[in-house]
Amino acid sequence: MGQAGSERGIRWPVSDRQKHRQVSFEFLGTGVSSGVPTIGCSCLTCTSSDPKDNRLRCSAALRFGDDRGEERTILFDAGPDLRQQALRAKLERVDALLFTHNHVDHTWGLDELRRFNTLMEGPVDIYASDHTLDFLRRVYGHIFDAGKNIQPSYVASVIPHRLLPLVPQELFGLTITPIPLLHGRLPVLGFRVEASHPTVAGRAGMDDLLPLAYCTDVSGIPPESWPLLEGLKTLVLGALRPRKHPTHFSIDEAVAAAERIGAKETWFIHMNHEVRHEPVDRALPGGIRLAWDGLVLPRTREEERSEGEWALGWRE
Ligand SMILES: [Zn+2]
Ligand SMILES: [Zn+2]
Ligand SMILES: [Zn+2]
Repeated sequence: MGQAGSERGIRWPVSDRQKHRQVSFEFLGTGVSSGVPTIGCSCLTCTSSDPKDNRLRCSAALRFGDDRGEERTILFDAGPDLRQQALRAKLERVDALLFTHNHVDHTWGLDELRRFNTLMEGPVDIYASDHTLDFLRRVYGHIFDAGKNIQPSYVASVIPHRLLPLVPQELFGLTITPIPLLHGRLPVLGFRVEASHPTVAGRAGMDDLLPLAYCTDVSGIPPESWPLLEGLKTLVLGALRPRKHPTHFSIDEAVAAAERIGAKETWFIHMNHEVRHEPVDRALPGGIRLAWDGLVLPRTREEERSEGEWALGWRE
C-alpha cells in the first residue's frame, strides 16, 4: 500500500489526508444486516469482483477539527464489523458514538470501544434513545453492570447519554439534532449535523458536507421530521433493495424521499445483495448515488473523475 492507499481499486483514506481536509465523513459500512456478500450465496452481487459490492454493516465516521483545533471523531452506530472498519479507516479515537436504534447490525460493536478507552485513556460518551439504552443495558450487562462480573476484566467503559427526538445536542462545535424516523413500527433516530461554532463552520470542506443528515433503517418520515431535512448539502439515506419491504425504503421509495428532500448530494446505504452497485448506481437520478464502503466525503474533483466518464459532472 502506498501513501494514497489502494485495495482492489478503491482508494482508502490515510490519516494525513484526513487532517489536511479538516472534515471528512467516511462510510465505514453500507450493507444490510447480513452484510454483502451474504453467507452461502452465489448470486451476481455476492460473487461480483467489484469491490463496491462488498458491504460491511452500516456505520460512518465524521472526523473534524473542533472549535479549539482538537481532532474529533463522531461515530454513527457500532455494528459487528467495527473492529475491521476501524482498522481500515485508521480510526484512532471516538469522541462520541451516536446510535440510530437498537438492532444488532448497529449495536454489536460496543465491545470494540475498549481499544478507544485505552487509546484515549478514558470512557467513551455514547448517545442513544431510551429504547436503545434499555437494550444496551440488557445485552451488555458486563459493561453497564461491570461490578457484577465474576472477576475484574477488560470491558468497555462508556458514559451513556439520553437522546430525545428533536432536541439538539451540542458536540464540539456541531449541533446534532435527532430526527424521528419510522423503521416499520419501530421509532428510530436519524441525525441532522450542522456546524454551530464559527471556527468549526469555517473548516475546509464543511461547506461541501454540512448540513448533513444520516438516516438509516427508515421506512417512513413523520411530518415533524421534514423541517429537519431542509437545506441539506448531504443526505445519507437507507435504501434496502428494489422490492418493497415492511421496515425499509425500497430503492424507488428512497429516490422519492430523496427527491422531495432535495439535498445537494444523496448517498444510499444499507443495500442488500439484490442491489449490484454498478447497474443500480448508473440508473439513479442525478445527485443520488449508492455509497460504498470506504467512500470519503467531501470528494475531490479528481476522485469524481477517477470513477469513470459516466460519473463525470453528476453533481453539476
Ligand atoms: Zn440495519
Ligand atoms: Zn447474494
Ligand atoms: Zn434496523
